[in-house]
Amino acid sequence: MLSLTVHAQTRYEIKFIQDLFNSDLLIEDCKNKASQFVIISDDTVSALYAQRLKNILEQLGSPVHVATFPPGEHYKTRETKAKLEEVMLNARCTRDTYVIALGGGIVTDVAGFVAATYCRGVPVIYIPTTLLAMVDASIGGKTGVNVPQGKNLIGAFKQPHCVYIDVDFLTTLPTVEFNNGMVELIKHALIRDADLFAELERQTLSLQDKNQLEHMIYRSCEIKRDIVEIDPEEKNMRQLLNFGHTVGHVIESVSHYDIRHGEAVALGMLIECYFSQQLGYLVPKALARIKAVLATYHLPLALPDTIKQVSWLDYFKMDKKSLNSQVYSVILEDIGRPYIAGGKYAHLITPDLLAEAQNYS
Ligand code: ADP
Ligand code: ZN
Repeated sequence: MLSLTVHAQTRYEIKFIQDLFNSDLLIEDCKNKASQFVIISDDTVSALYAQRLKNILEQLGSPVHVATFPPGEHYKTRETKAKLEEVMLNARCTRDTYVIALGGGIVTDVAGFVAATYCRGVPVIYIPTTLLAMVDASIGGKTGVNVPQGKNLIGAFKQPHCVYIDVDFLTTLPTVEFNNGMVELIKHALIRDADLFAELERQTLSLQDKNQLEHMIYRSCEIKRDIVEIDPEEKNMRQLLNFGHTVGHVIESVSHYDIRHGEAVALGMLIECYFSQQLGYLVPKALARIKAVLATYHLPLALPDTIKQVSWLDYFKMDKKSLNSQVYSVILEDIGRPYIAGGKYAHLITPDLLAEAQNYS
C-alpha cells in the first residue's frame, strides 16, 4: 500500500488503497478511538456509499450517524454547517467523536470546518470521492464555506487525522467531474514538475489503468505536500498553489458557480499563462502544449462571453488573496518552472494587462 506522510501541525498519513470498503483498514485504524462517528456527505455520494461505510463502522460498536446536505457549491454555506452541527448536538456528540468526510471537495471543506469548531475541534477523517478532492483537499488543511461576498471567506485551517485515497470511488464519478479534477493535477505538474507534465502528455489518464492513475495522484499529492511543508502559512512558496486560482476564483464568482472549480481554474491557468507570455517569460510553444493537455480532458480553452462582460477588478477587490485590491499572479517561465524574483512567487499584474486578458480567447 502506498502511503504519504504529511507533517502539518500534526503528522498524518494519506493511505492509498483500492477497494477500501473490502479491506480491514478502517476497522483497524478506528478501533477504540471514538465514542461516536458522524459521516458527513452530500446526498449523491451518501446514496452511493454511506450505508456501506456505516455498516463497517458499526462493527466497532459505537453509534454511527449520517448527516448529509444537497450537492453543489450553493450548499457550501454557513446554514449547511449549522444544520450539520444540529445533527451532532442532538446526537450528543462529544469531543471524542470522529467526523468522517465522505465526498468531494465541497464535503471535505464543510465537514473539515464543522470538525474544526465542534467542541473547539474534533478529529476528521477524509475519504475523498472525487479526483479533485484526492489531489487537492487531502493536503493543506484549508476548510470553509462560501458567503454571498465570496468563496471560502469563512473558514479555518484544520488538518485531517488521516486520509484514505481509493481510486475505485472514481468509477461512479461523472467524466466531467473526473476532468474537473485533472486540472489540479495538471496544475501541480505546471508549477513544479516538468517530468510529470511530460507523462501527462504521453498518456491520457483514465480508470482503465487504476495503478497508473493512483501513481499519478500520489505524485500530485507529493508535490502539494512538499510545497505546503516548506511554507505552511502561505507566506511565499505556497502562493504557487494559487496558480490559475487568482483569475479562476473570479471566473467562478462571476458565473455564480455555474462554471465548475476545475474548469474555472483551467481558464484561470490559461489567462495567467497569457500574463506570463505578455510579460515575456513563457514562450507560445509552451502555452500550446498546456492547451493540448487541457483539451485532452475536454476542458474549456476560451472565456465565455458572460465572463468577459463584467469588470474583473470589482471582483478582485473582494478576493481575500488580493492585497490592497492589487492583483498578484503566479508567472511561469516554462512548464514546471515558475518565475521567482526577490523571494516572490506571485507578481503584480497591472490593471491594463488585466483588462487586456479579459478579451483573451
Ligand atoms: P469537488 O469540489 O471535489 O469537485 P464536489 O464535492 O462538488 O467535488 O462533487 C462534485 C459532484 O460529484 C457532486 O455533485 C457530488 O455529489 C458528485 N460526486 C462526488 N463523488 C462522487 C462519486 N464518487 N461518484 C458519483 N458522484 C460523485
Ligand atoms: Zn483549486
